Amino acid sequence: MFEIVISSRNKEKKRELKALLKGLGIKVIDLNDFPGAPKVKETGKTFEANAKLKALKIAKYTKRPAVADDSGLVVNALGGKPGVRSARFAGNNAAYEDNNRKLLKLLEGVPGDKRGAKFISVVAIAGPKGIIGVVRGECSGRITFSPKGKNGFGYDPVFFSPDFGKTFAELSASQKNSISHRGRALKKARIIIVRLRRSLS
Ligand code: IMP
Repeated sequence: MFEIVISSRNKEKKRELKALLKGLGIKVIDLNDFPGAPKVKETGKTFEANAKLKALKIAKYTKRPAVADDSGLVVNALGGKPGVRSARFAGNNAAYEDNNRKLLKLLEGVPGDKRGAKFISVVAIAGPKGIIGVVRGECSGRITFSPKGKNGFGYDPVFFSPDFGKTFAELSASQKNSISHRGRALKKARIIIVRLRRSLS
C-alpha cells in the first residue's frame, strides 16, 4: 500500500493532518514509526521554506513521500507577527497559553475592527529526490479580547471565525477542518498526493 509520512511531532497538527488525508486509500504514518528521525530546524524565513525543509528531510530519511505543514498566525496590527515564529512567540519552549497571553497583551487597547488576522498553512510534499509540490491555505478572522473554547490548539481560543461566529476553539474538529487554513491547503495537497500515488503504481 502507498505510504506517506507526516513530518511533524505536534500531536494536534498530526491529528488534523490525518483526518484531512482520510479516504484516499493511502496509509498515513508519522514519525512515531521512525524514532531515529532527525529533528528539523526551522531556519527558513518563510512558511514555504520551512515546509519544504521539513518535508524533504523526512522524505530522504524515511525513503518515502512525506508531507509537512508549516503554519502560523499573521496579525495585521502587529505588522504580520507572530508569523513564522508563532510556535515560539513567547520564547523557545513557550506553552500555547503563554503565546496567547503575549498576543492579547500586545493588542491591549486595539479596537475590535483593528484586530484582523489570518492563519496561514503551507503544505509541502516531497519524495526522497526532491520537492513534489507546495500549496497554501489561508483563513481570515480576528483576535478576541480574551480566550474562549477548549478545543483545538495553539491560538484557537483567541481566533474568532466570522464564518461560524465562534472561536476556533469552540468548533468541532470537522467544523474547523472545513474552513481552516490547514483544511484549505490539504484540499489542494490531496490532489497532488493522489496524482503521485497514481504515478507510482
Ligand atoms: P510550526 O510547527 O512551526 O508550523 O508552528 C505552528 C504554530 O502556529 C503552532 O505552534 C501554533 O502556535 C500556530 N498554529 C498553526 N496552526 C494553528 C491552528 O490551526 N490553530 C492554532 N494555532 C495554530
